[in-house]
Amino acid sequence: MPEGHTVHRLAAALRAGFGEQRVRTSSPQGRFSEAADLDGWVLADAEAVGKHLFLAFVPDASVDAGAPVTRYVRVHLGLYGSWTFAGEPGFATVHAIGAPRVRIGEREEGLDDGDVDWRRIVPRPTTRLRIAGPQGLADLTGPTACEVLDAAGRQAVIDRLGPDPLRADADRRRFVDRVLASRTAIGVLLMNQDVIAGIGNIYRAEVLFRARLDPTVPGRDLTRGMVEGIWEDLVPLMEYGARTGRIVTTQPEHRDIEARIVERSRGTRQNGDEDPDVVPREKSFYVYHRQTLPCRVCATEIRSADMAARTVFWCPRCQTVRSRRATWTREHPAAPWALAPERSERP
Ligand SMILES: [Zn+2]
Repeated sequence: MPEGHTVHRLAAALRAGFGEQRVRTSSPQGRFSEAADLDGWVLADAEAVGKHLFLAFVPDASVDAGAPVTRYVRVHLGLYGSWTFAGEPGFATVHAIGAPRVRIGEREEGLDDGDVDWRRIVPRPTTRLRIAGPQGLADLTGPTACEVLDAAGRQAVIDRLGPDPLRADADRRRFVDRVLASRTAIGVLLMNQDVIAGIGNIYRAEVLFRARLDPTVPGRDLTRGMVEGIWEDLVPLMEYGARTGRIVTTQPEHRDIEARIVERSRGTRQNGDEDPDVVPREKSFYVYHRQTLPCRVCATEIRSADMAARTVFWCPRCQTVRSRRATWTREHPAAPWALAPERSERP
């Protein structure tokens, strides 16, 4: 499932492609009939809150986003949703965001094909929503949610979510207080969108490794500094993800150690895997999908177990921090959240 950084990246792509422009909206699949009501409206804004995308539509460019007449299309990609873009040269910096797209038929006119005039691209029958502007189009397929909300409906969704580390208006204290008050394991709390929005299975496993935290430790056993540290580590990790489209949590000095990985699931794939300039996926993570392989730091076998309905991965030797009285292990004297991914890999 796309994690929050992907949805922020989508919002930026949609703003860049359609922002403040009059657009045509349709539902080739027919399952989003409200698209007809917004056809010809102006896409005033696109924003991400956790894994939710909100597209603000106004009937006319003279109306400000947020005016009572504004309608919001809420999209949640879930496991299988994705957006695909096509348009004039330079229209979109990405071709597709979300679940890896599978070509249905050999002769299908693909959106990825640079030779095709985008205006003539026939939507796939599964396209829930098509947005077409003067410069290009975006097709949404397979989302878990796609609905129209008014301002109150949008706010109700946001009010149920925890703070999102990628948003400037995020309230870190709300996350910290919630964790410190809970007897639930930190590995479960991090997956709870009411506690912190936008974190998925990869960030959960990786940020706990970087903090050397045992995933099963109850939130209330952590210190405030530990929980603040998790947040402070997530911000640059997720900003890197939003900028590059990829989750990379390893320090350069750990990348060539035990790089081999067995590709066990589609979940390991990321947009841009084929790009030779990015950190390859077998070097991107400390523990995610590395069960039974040696830890990059201590060579102990990485373990996996079910937690909050998703598999959690951890190193039993590195991740021993459990209680308020615990101190950082001798092998890792520095505060782990001082680690941050390289900021300059993809300018
Ligand atoms: Zn280890």
